[in-house]
Amino acid sequence: MAKRIGVLALQGAFAEHETMLSALGAACHELRNRNDLAEKPDGLVLPGGESTVQRKLLMESGMFASIKSWIEEGMPVLATCAGLILLAEHLSNDERTCFKTLPVTVRRNAYGRQLGSFIAEADVRYIGTMRQNFIRAPYIEQVSPKVEVLSETAGHITAVRYGHQLALAFHPEVGHDTRLHEAFLRMI
Ligand code: GLN
Repeated sequence: MAKRIGVLALQGAFAEHETMLSALGAACHELRNRNDLAEKPDGLVLPGGESTVQRKLLMESGMFASIKSWIEEGMPVLATCAGLILLAEHLSNDERTCFKTLPVTVRRNAYGRQLGSFIAEADVRYIGTMRQNFIRAPYIEQVSPKVEVLSETAGHITAVRYGHQLALAFHPEVGHDTRLHEAFLRMI
C-alpha cells in the first residue's frame, strides 16, 4: 500500500512536496484543520514558508497538540526551512518556538537581507553532492550530541537528522532532485 504522508498545508511551499512525493508513489493528504487529523498518516511534512504565520495557524486551527504528540511518538518527519524552525527547541533570534522536538538552536533569516536567497552545492551525508536552494533561510547554530549533522554549507549546519526527524534549512522540493524525499520515504 502507498505510504500515507500528511503535509502541513496552512501556508508556504507544500504543493511542491506533494508533487515530488506523489511522483515517488506516496499518497499525500493535506493537513489544514482538525478534521484532517482523523486518520493518522505514516509520515509528516512540514514545508517552508513563513514560520511565524504557520505557527499562528497551527494554534488557531487546533492542530498543534496532536501533531506535536505524533512527532513525540516517533512519526517520521521531513521539515524544510520554516519547518525546521517549527521543530527547533531553541531559536537564537526569536522567542516563538513551536514543537520543540528537535534539540538544536536555529537562527531565523540567518543570511541577512543581502543573501536572502541563493543556491549552493554541498555534500549531504549518505546522499552525495546536492544543489541546495536557500530562500530567506535559517541555519543551525548548535546541535545536541545526539543530533547527526548531514550537511554544512559555507561553514553552517544546514541539514540534520535526529531519530525520525529529518530537518533541512534548504528546499529540496524545488527542482528535480528527489533523493532526500526518497530517503525520507525509506525512514517510514
Ligand atoms: N524566513 C522564513 C521564516 O523565518 C523561512 C524561509 C523559508 O521557509 N523559505 O520562517
